[in-house]
Amino acid sequence: MDDYEKLLERARDSVPEDAFKRSGERFKVPHVQLMIQGTRTIWQNFQEILGVLNRPGKEVLKYVAGQLATAGNMEGGSAIFQGKFTANTVNEVLSKYIDAYVLCPVCGRPDTNMDKDGHAYYLKCSACGASTSIRPV
Ligand SMILES: [Zn+2]
Repeated sequence: MDDYEKLLERARDSVPEDAFKRSGERFKVPHVQLMIQGTRTIWQNFQEILGVLNRPGKEVLKYVAGQLATAGNMEGGSAIFQGKFTANTVNEVLSKYIDAYVLCPVCGRPDTNMDKDGHAYYLKCSACGASTSIRPV
């Protein structure tokens, strides 16, 4: 029994202390999954990505539709855009959104919230405490 406990302890010691912390900090956004249906593009994992971004769907939809210069709406967990778009195009638009509205410009972490103060919008970072004014979507 003693030997077993010693073994466990040694195993625990050999794990780098920050291994778990580090993996938790990584910001992983899934790639967009699109399906073309007729003349529309259906973004199938829209809801899943919203969960990772921690942003309201209406806002992300407005931004993406604006960048694609088309109309979009949400249906169930999917976003639907008029026109045919490739996953590359949508991924690019999504990463622009993340750069502008999700990642903290000061520390680069994604632990941010959007705050509205009158007509001004702020990106508030809970990792470093920075508050950055941003353009509304
Ligand atoms: Zn920050």
